[in-house]
Amino acid sequence: LLRSAPPFFSGTTSLGKETKVAAICELLDDCGFVKKYQPTEEMACRYFVQEYCRGTRMAECKRKEYFQQHGTQPSDEIMPTGKNILVRQKS
Ligand code: SF4
Repeated sequence: LLRSAPPFFSGTTSLGKETKVAAICELLDDCGFVKKYQPTEEMACRYFVQEYCRGTRMAECKRKEYFQQHGTQPSDEIMPTGKNILVRQKS
């Protein structure tokens, strides 16, 4: 029922504004990681594009954070998590 508003909507509407995020990362067209790994259809890359570049975890992307701090992109091998895609865990 919509009779009582959920607690996080009480008081102010600023939360609604703040949680509005771009649907697609503005760096997507130029992102070295996506450009390099998306065509390979690497499963991990597909997951990242879905979760980060076009998803709710966009603001957590370490590549984006790096770009904002340094004005350049990190190595193409750096994933949105900040880890290197070429470094596989030993089994
Ligand atoms: S990997 Fe990060 S910086 Fe690159 S397009 Fe996706 S969200 Fe943006």
